[in-house]
Amino acid sequence: MKEHLLKILVIGDGNVGKSSFVHRYVNGQFNRTYKMTVGVDFSVKMLHWSDKEKVRVQLWDIAGQERFISMTRIYYKGAVGCVVMFDVTDSSSFLKCHQWKQDLDNKAMLPKGSSIPCILLANKSDLSHWAVPADRIEMFCKANGFFTRMATSVKDNKNIDEAMRSLVKEILSI
Ligand code: GDP
Repeated sequence: MKEHLLKILVIGDGNVGKSSFVHRYVNGQFNRTYKMTVGVDFSVKMLHWSDKEKVRVQLWDIAGQERFISMTRIYYKGAVGCVVMFDVTDSSSFLKCHQWKQDLDNKAMLPKGSSIPCILLANKSDLSHWAVPADRIEMFCKANGFFTRMATSVKDNKNIDEAMRSLVKEILSI
């Protein structure tokens, strides 16, 4: 049995639903939250990917440090995938995704011009007062190197597993 260990980052502005997302995703599975010396928590979820492969997903939540926007390189080091999240009812959290993605690309220490697989998540899609039109989300996704985007609702448990599955699949296919 082959086991993959995938460090995946969850970034985006404060209050968009990142911790709720991580909690929802790992809920019901054996997991522990570790307090790292760098002040970032991560949670673990085991996936039985196929008959021959297991995947240990290590989700790094920025845990309230969004105010620094510019995270230390230690946080990004070794990451193989990333979730960039915004709140559909908060257009400023959407506009900031550009900066989050750039910060990631600058710090993930990859060869210039390359990037780790990134998925853009439009969270709180259960709320009716969307502040960001769907076509803008799609354009932004294409223009900024995300391999896909999805509308999620952590509240209604919509597209949480699907989003992570799609990200893990993208990572493993590289
Ligand atoms: P973080 O700061 O990005 O980690 O955000 P939190 O996970 O702390 O969530 C911020 C607030 O948004 C909390 O009150 C959550 O209950 C709420 N929230 C998170 N996801 C959703 C969602 O999908 N729909 C709605 N309506 N509220 C959500």
